[in-house]
Amino acid sequence: MTVRVRLAPSPTGTLHIGTARTALFNWLFAKKNSGKFLLRIEDTDKERSKQEHLENILQGLKWLNLQWDEDLIIQSERINCHRQAIKKLLEEGYAYRCFATEVELEEMREAQKRRGEAPRYDNRYRDLSKEDEANFITEGRSYVIRFRINDEERIEWNDLVRGQMKWKGEDLGGDMVISRRANSMEIGEPLYNLVVVIDDAEMQISHVIRGEDHITNTAKQILLYKALGLRIPEFAHTPLILNSEGKKLSKRDGVTSINQFRDMGYTAEALTNYMALLGWSIPEGMNERFNIEEAAELFSFKRVNKAGAKFDWDKLNWLNSQVIHSWEPEILYESLETIWAKAGWTIPSRAWGIELSKLLGPSLITLQDSLKQSEPFFNEPELKSDGIKQLESEGAKGSLKALLEELEKNPWDGKDIQIAKSLIQEISASLKIKKGLIMKSLRASLLGDLQGPDLITTWSLLAQIDKDKNRLRKSIK
Ligand code: GLU
Repeated sequence: MTVRVRLAPSPTGTLHIGTARTALFNWLFAKKNSGKFLLRIEDTDKERSKQEHLENILQGLKWLNLQWDEDLIIQSERINCHRQAIKKLLEEGYAYRCFATEVELEEMREAQKRRGEAPRYDNRYRDLSKEDEANFITEGRSYVIRFRINDEERIEWNDLVRGQMKWKGEDLGGDMVISRRANSMEIGEPLYNLVVVIDDAEMQISHVIRGEDHITNTAKQILLYKALGLRIPEFAHTPLILNSEGKKLSKRDGVTSINQFRDMGYTAEALTNYMALLGWSIPEGMNERFNIEEAAELFSFKRVNKAGAKFDWDKLNWLNSQVIHSWEPEILYESLETIWAKAGWTIPSRAWGIELSKLLGPSLITLQDSLKQSEPFFNEPELKSDGIKQLESEGAKGSLKALLEELEKNPWDGKDIQIAKSLIQEISASLKIKKGLIMKSLRASLLGDLQGPDLITTWSLLAQIDKDKNRLRKSIK
C-alpha cells in the first residue's frame, strides 16, 4: 500500500505546537515509508478562518522544514463534493432532515439534565413521515441534516498507537449533524466529520494521524466511511502535549505558536528534534540530539506513547544550545545578522559579523540571547556596579592609561591578536601590575561588566571598528 498521510489544519489560529507535532509525526511516517505527506486547509468555518492564520501555518511548516508533497488542498473549494455525498446519504436513508428548533433542543437538554442524564440528541425527527417532512419544508421550517447512529452499533479499529479501540453507538451522542441549518431544499454547510471523510477518501489517505482529542470523531467517521462505501484508512492517535500541571497545553500557557518559539530564538532544528521527543520514545542507543532525516529512518508508531507528553523547557533549551553550538560561524551569522538588523544595529562587515558570531556562539542558548551579549559591540555599554568597582581598584586606571598611551602612539587595527597580548604583557612588566588585574579592568572598560566572552577577541573586534580607545578614555577620567 502506498502511504499517503495528511495534516488538516483549520486556519482559525496560528500554527500551534500540537498541530506542528502532528505534522512532524505525519512527515516522519511518510518519509519512513517512502510515502507522501499532504496538506489540506480546513477552512469551512468561514467566520473563524482567516487569511493571516493560513499564511502563518504555511510559513511555520516551511520554517520547520516540513514541506508537503503535491498541491495544497483547500477544503472550501470542494463543497460540491461534500454536498453530493450528503445527498447520497439522504437518498439512501442513512441521513435525514431534522427540524428540531434551537428552543426545542434546549428544552430537551434541560430535561435530560433534570433526569441526571448525559446530554444527547434523542433522534426525535428520525422517522418523520414523507408527508410531515414535505409540510415542514413548505412552511419554511429550517433543518439540519443528521446521520443515523444506531445505539446498537459497535465500532472497532486497531489504532497504531492505542491498540484495539471499541466504541458503542450509544456513546456517540445520538444522530450526528452533518450539515448546518438551512431552510429550503438546499443543503446547508457541510460539517467537519462529513467533509473530512470525503476529502480523506478523495485524497486516498492511507493513514490518518492526528491528536487523541479526535478519537470520538474517528468512531463517527468510521460509520460514515461504511455508509458511503469508502475504504477506511488506518488511524493513529497521538498523545496530547501537556503543561507542567499535566493539563493540555493551551494558549493560557503563554508560548504555544511556532512563530513565538522562532521569535524567542529557538531554531527549527532544535524545535523539530524536541517535538519528535514529545511522545516518541527513541530506540535504545539513539542519541536524543538528532535531525528529522535521522529520526525518519527509525520512526514507528510502536514507540509512540499513549500517555500525554509533558512540555519540558529545559530539554528544549539544551537541544537548542546543542544545535547553535554545532553551527559553523557563517551559518550562525545568517541568523544573528537578522536579529542585529532588527535591533537597528549596523554591521561593519560580513567578516566582522562572522567573527562576532564565532565569539558569542558557544555561550548562546537561544539566538535571542545574542541580543544582550552583542549589544556592547554596537552601543556604548552602561557601566555596571562590578565594572565601577573594578575601575576604582588600585592600579586599574593607571594600567588602562598606559595602554591608551601605547595605542595612541602605535595605533592597533585589531587584526593581529599577538599585538594585544604583548601590550598587556609589557604594561604588566613595566608598571608591576598583575596581568589579571589589567585584563579585568580592560574588560570593565570595554564591556562595562566583568562577565563576557574572550577578552582579547572582544578587544580585537572593538578595535577593528575603532571603539576601544574611546571607552578607555572614558574609564580613566
Ligand atoms: N481541522 C481539524 C483540526 O485542526 C483536523 C483534524 C483531522 O486531522 O482530521 O483539528
